[in-house]
Amino acid sequence: MDDFEQLSPDEIIAEKDREINRLSRKLARLEETVAQARASFAAREQVISALSAESARQNRYLELLLAGSADMILVLDAEGHIVYASHSFLERVHIPSIERIRGEQFGEVFTDDSFKPFFDAFYTALSEKRAVIFDMEQFSMLSLDPDNPSYFSVSITPMIEDNGNVDGGILLAHDITELVSARSQAEQASSAKSAFLAQMSHEIRTPMNAIIGMAELALRENLPGSSMQMIASIRQAGDNLLAIINDILDFSKIESGKMEVVETEYQLSQIISDVVNIVRVRVAEKPVDFFVHADGGLGNIYLGDQARVRQVLLNLLSNAVKYTREGYIILTINGEKTEDGKMLLRFDVSDTGIGIKPEDKTHLFEEFTRFDHARHAGVVGTGLGLAITNRLVSLMNGRISVESEYGKGSTFSIVLPQSLIPGKDSKFAAVKDTRSKIIACESGQLAADMFSAAAAALGVEARVTFDAGEFAGLLEICKRSDANYYCFAAQSVLSTNPSLRVPPGMKRVVIADKSGVSLNDTHTIQSPVYVLPLAAVLNGEADNTRAANSAHAETFTAPNARILLVDDMMINIKVTGGLMAPYAMKIDAALSAQEAINRVKETRYDLIFMDHMMPGMDGIEATAVLREMKNGAVVPIVALTANAVSGMKEMFLAAGMDDFLSKPLDVHKMNEILQKWIPRHKQIPIEEKKESAVTAAFDLPGVDSEAGVARLGGNALMYRQLLTEFAAAIPQSLELLKKQLACHDMKEYAVTIHGIKGGALTICAGKAVTLAEELEIAAKKGDTRFAEENTGTFLAECDRLISSLKSFLERE
Ligand code: ADP
Repeated sequence: MDDFEQLSPDEIIAEKDREINRLSRKLARLEETVAQARASFAAREQVISALSAESARQNRYLELLLAGSADMILVLDAEGHIVYASHSFLERVHIPSIERIRGEQFGEVFTDDSFKPFFDAFYTALSEKRAVIFDMEQFSMLSLDPDNPSYFSVSITPMIEDNGNVDGGILLAHDITELVSARSQAEQASSAKSAFLAQMSHEIRTPMNAIIGMAELALRENLPGSSMQMIASIRQAGDNLLAIINDILDFSKIESGKMEVVETEYQLSQIISDVVNIVRVRVAEKPVDFFVHADGGLGNIYLGDQARVRQVLLNLLSNAVKYTREGYIILTINGEKTEDGKMLLRFDVSDTGIGIKPEDKTHLFEEFTRFDHARHAGVVGTGLGLAITNRLVSLMNGRISVESEYGKGSTFSIVLPQSLIPGKDSKFAAVKDTRSKIIACESGQLAADMFSAAAAALGVEARVTFDAGEFAGLLEICKRSDANYYCFAAQSVLSTNPSLRVPPGMKRVVIADKSGVSLNDTHTIQSPVYVLPLAAVLNGEADNTRAANSAHAETFTAPNARILLVDDMMINIKVTGGLMAPYAMKIDAALSAQEAINRVKETRYDLIFMDHMMPGMDGIEATAVLREMKNGAVVPIVALTANAVSGMKEMFLAAGMDDFLSKPLDVHKMNEILQKWIPRHKQIPIEEKKESAVTAAFDLPGVDSEAGVARLGGNALMYRQLLTEFAAAIPQSLELLKKQLACHDMKEYAVTIHGIKGGALTICAGKAVTLAEELEIAAKKGDTRFAEENTGTFLAECDRLISSLKSFLERE
């Protein structure tokens, strides 16, 4: 102020003005700052409001999502307080709004015990900091339908913060009631399917038993040839139908996971010789050769499912036969030890059949697949064989593969790991004395190669040819040697070269031709020659292939045995009883379980065959009753049933029965069962009896009656019938032959001689067959001279044959 006092008023005013200006500028700056602050504040406000709008929208979305979700959602904090509950949860627990329970302890609101699993799982998830997932069954508390419990799939996820602390957990429960009921419906349907199959199997197999069994019995009767053929066709068709039914059943068993692999100790040689016996008969009707190439040093005793091994091999071989019109089929068997001490058995089935197109190969193992319908017209099949084979092989942990060239042929290969039995070191095939030597004349190049390979596999020296001239030379060499020679010669070679003479002192073995017919030789083996039959001959063991081809399977009689057949169907009793007739046992029949029980009260049986499904008391219930009875406690009971679905055998055994035989009856299996259960001391082996009966009854020069009977499945009566027909019809043909020769009508002559040869073949008149064959070949070539020179010998042989037949038949 003092300064002002010294200043003039103007100066004071000026000074004030300056100050005002300064303040104004300051104010302006302040105003600017305020405006800036306001602007930035407004911007922030804008951002905040935008953000909160976004967050509200997100919340709304989330809420909508949660509210709309059919799944129940519950959020709890770390102490178990309810933070959030979805609409669907609230609805199920009948709480109108979340506000009623928010912040409450879950365990205090939901006190029912059935919530405990939720609670426990929640704490597990939180304490172990991991998601817990489980299915909850039959939870009625949360069920929409109070009368029916619901099923839930529950997941609980802990909420873990960045620092690792657990903030709470989210529980999600998904209703799977419908899924569960769909599954149980599917299971019911599947078990209905299985039950249907079991029933169908029973319903079909029962009449099949009657058809096949009655046909089998009729074939044993002395019927005229034409009826015989018709009945044989019925039998064949029955067998085919049964094979198809079995395929379908097998497939459904596999489909429903009911096919089990049952491992037992088995001999590989048994399987192979069974399979070869079956395939040999099947190829006999076709211009197809069958060979087997096996390594003799392979182990022989394995642990595995022999029925299934046999089945897969037969499936592949049957296909090879079905789809090959001409050429050959080779079964090769090899093995390789694995590191874990198992044997990897390898079976290759090669054929020169129709082959498979590359594009079809991928679908080959699918069910109901058949290719090239046009090309296999007339070939029976369901398209299931390979699908079954494939699945069975994988069930046995094996592999199947195929190589094929369309139009040329195929090779199917199976590799199966099979356990070797420790300590049981037997060989597939071996000869005891390898000093024997072999010369052989086979029917062709491939057969000769296979023969050589078999001899080499057995370590036996062999000179094998398929040339008759070379063979004659070999015979000369052998004559001069003093080594122990076996001389094998194919029937076809001997027939066409009657001058071939095997020197006395040499062991002569005839390799029968495909029809199984051989000359009247004591030593005959069936083709194909491979290590098993070759070793059997060299070891001096009998070749049992003839017996295996016979429909008659009985190996003994048991006149002192008493058995009981229980079946509600008279026709089944007749079939079973008829098939058992050759055993000469005393057979009683019961048409119901009650009748069986009454019979067992009075009689002690050696064996009971019990049908499974019978009206009233069934076979299983009857067994339980019998087991409580004095006479029934220990008697062997064999279940006899048409119900062939898997698990049946186990069920019967568990029910107190001792064994199981399925209908339609297989005579070989029936023989096995009878042999196993009829007391040993009551069994009289049939071998000696049969042989003496056959040779005594059919002592016919020029005829191998034993082979003839065997070819007719052991039907001696039918063979007699054929002898009668031959003796009656041939003289006429011989007259015709003479006339045709006189007028040099070689064409007609060939037809007539061919007919006579056929007749001689069926009765196994070896010499007549050989002579007729030579004449037929000559006649076809128009070689009148040969016919003129040799017809006389043939006529003389036939006359001798007919007169001995006639006197034999008259004697009879
Ligand atoms: P199926 O023989 O009953 O028809 P599979 O399942 O055994 O049924 O075989 C399926 C199809 O594969 C046959 O229909 C045939 O077309 C073909 N096939 C099988 N094996 C052979 C084979 N060895 N050679 C040629 N084709 C074959």
